[in-house]
Amino acid sequence: MSNGADGDSVAELYSCAGEMRARVRDFDWAATPLGCSGEWPASLRHAVDIVLGCGFPAILVWGPQLIQIYNDAYVPLIGAKHPRALGLPTHACWPEIRDVQERYFARVFRGEAVQLSEAQYSLDRFDSGELEDAWFDATFIPVPLGTGEIGGSLSILFESSDRVRARAYEADHEKLVRTAETAERAERESAAQLRVALEAASLGTWSYELGSEHAWNSARSNAVLGRPATPGPITFAEFLGCLEESDRPRVRAALDAALAGDGRYEVEYRVIRADGTTSWVAALGHMLPGADGAPARVMGIVQDVNERKAAEAERERLFQVELKAHAAVERAYGDVAAANRAKSEFLAVMSHELRTPLNAIGGYVELIELGIRGPVTQEQLVDLQRIKASQRHLMGLVTDVLHLVRIETGRLEYALHPVAIAEIVSSVEVLIGPQLLAKEVFLDPARSDSSLFVQADREKLIQILVNLLTNALKFTGPGGRIGMECVADDSTVTIHVRDTGIGIAPEKLHAIFEPFVQVDQRPTRTNDGVGLGLAISRDLARGMGAELSVESTPGVGSTFMLTLPRVQRD
Ligand code: ADP
Repeated sequence: MSNGADGDSVAELYSCAGEMRARVRDFDWAATPLGCSGEWPASLRHAVDIVLGCGFPAILVWGPQLIQIYNDAYVPLIGAKHPRALGLPTHACWPEIRDVQERYFARVFRGEAVQLSEAQYSLDRFDSGELEDAWFDATFIPVPLGTGEIGGSLSILFESSDRVRARAYEADHEKLVRTAETAERAERESAAQLRVALEAASLGTWSYELGSEHAWNSARSNAVLGRPATPGPITFAEFLGCLEESDRPRVRAALDAALAGDGRYEVEYRVIRADGTTSWVAALGHMLPGADGAPARVMGIVQDVNERKAAEAERERLFQVELKAHAAVERAYGDVAAANRAKSEFLAVMSHELRTPLNAIGGYVELIELGIRGPVTQEQLVDLQRIKASQRHLMGLVTDVLHLVRIETGRLEYALHPVAIAEIVSSVEVLIGPQLLAKEVFLDPARSDSSLFVQADREKLIQILVNLLTNALKFTGPGGRIGMECVADDSTVTIHVRDTGIGIAPEKLHAIFEPFVQVDQRPTRTNDGVGLGLAISRDLARGMGAELSVESTPGVGSTFMLTLPRVQRD
C-alpha cells in the first residue's frame, strides 16, 4: 500500500466503509500502470470516488491498458472473476469479449458516451471454460483528463439476463401453449373427421377393456349389432351370447389370437338381432397398451357386411351353376368326340370294304373288255368304258375318304426334313404336265430361288401342290394361265399357286376348306371331284406346321398360298 501527495483527497476516498473501498485502498497500485494511488491525477481520483460511492454496479476502466476499478454492487455481476478483476486490464479479465469491448472503448476514448440496452455477451464468469449468455443494460461515460484527452470510461451496468430469459421463456411458453392448442384442435378435428369417415363407411366403433372384460359400443356399432342405441357396456360373455352359436368359438379364438399375437383382431360373425333376424358383421380391431405398456384394451370397428355376404353367396351359386354347365358341356364334348370317333371308324371300315368290290368291278370290266368272256360289240365297249370311269371315280373318292380319316384320327405320320423348294416346284410341274397338254392352259415358268429350304414332309408337300395345281387347271378354261411363285422372308417361304380361272365368290371362300364343300353344286357342273382335296390339303399343311389360305376374285382367278417354316440347308 502506498499513499502519496494530495493525501487529503486520498484519505477522503477511502474514508467510507465498504469491501471494495478497503480493497482499493489496500491494493498495490504501484505494481500497475496506474502507479501509486497517491500520485493519481485528480480526474482519476474523482472518478474512483464516484464509482466507489455509487449505489449501482459501476466500474471504472482507466488508461490505455483499461485497468479496472469497481464497486461493491458490481461484485455479484462478475462471479468468480472477483477479486482478481481489480487492477487487471479489462482484456486480461474478459478475453472472451475482447472484440466487443474494444469497439465500445474505442468510441468512449473518442469522447462518446455509449448506451447499451440488453446487450448480449458470452461470458465465462466462473472461469469454467464454458461460455454463458448474459444480457446487460449499460452506460459508458468518457472521463476527461482535463488535458483534452480521455482518461477512462466510467460504466454503470445492470444485468438484464433474467428479464430477457423470462421474456424468452414467456414467448416459448406461449408458443408451447399455442402448439398444444393447435395439436388439441388438430386432434379434435381428426377425431371428428374419423367419425365422419367411419359414419360414411357405415362403420361403428367399439372398445373392449381387458381388466373389466367390458365392451363399449358406439351408437352405430349398436345399430350394426342390432342392439338399442345406448344400452351401456356389455360384457364379452353377454356379447358372445348375441352371436350365432356356431360363430362364438371363432370370435373367442380371434380375441385370444390378438392378445397372444401381433395384437390384430379380425373376424366375421353372425349376430342374432333383437328382432330375431341374423345379420353378418365384420369386426376389425387392434390391441392397445396401457400406461404400463401391458395390453389394456382392444379398439376397433364393426361393419354390416350383409350385402357383401349376399353377393358372395350369389357368386358361389353362379359358380356352382357354371360348374354344372361346364360339366354338361364336357359331357356333350365327350359325346361329340365319341360320335366323331364312331364316324371315322365307320368311314374307315366302309371305305376299306368298298375298295374290294370296286377292284373286282374294275378287274371284271377289263376281262370283258379283252374279250375273254366272248366277243364284245362296239356299243358294249363304250358302256364298259363308262363303267370303268365310274369305277375310277368311286375308287378316288374312297381313297380320299380313307386319307382324310387317317389324318383326322392322327394316324398319319410326318417325316419332316429340310426340303429344297426349287426342286419340289419343278417335280410338281412335271407331274401335272400330261393334264396341261389335255387342256389348253399355259403353265408360267415357276419363279423360285434355289437357296430356299423349308421344313416339310416331301411327299405330302408334293401331294398338296399337285392338288392345288390340279384344281387350278380344273377351274381354268382353255387359253388361261396357271403358275407358281415363291416368296420368302426371314422365317417363312410362301408358295403361291395362281390361276386365271373362274375364281371363288367371297362368301364361299371360308367354306372351301371344309370336307365335301364344292362351290358349284349344280347337277350339271362340269368339274368332277368330291370336295375333299382342299380339306385334305389344309390338314396335311397344318400337320407339318404350315398354313394354307386363299385369295380369289370371281372371273379373274384364284391364288392359293402355302406358307411353310423356312430353314437353312442341312
Ligand atoms: P374338289 O376339287 O374335289 O371339288 P376341293 O376340296 O379340291 O374339292 O375343292 C373344293 C371346292 O373349291 C371346289 O369344288 C371348287 O368349287 C373350289 N375350288 C378349289 N380350287 C379352285 C380354284 N383354283 N378355282 C376356283 N374354285 C376352286
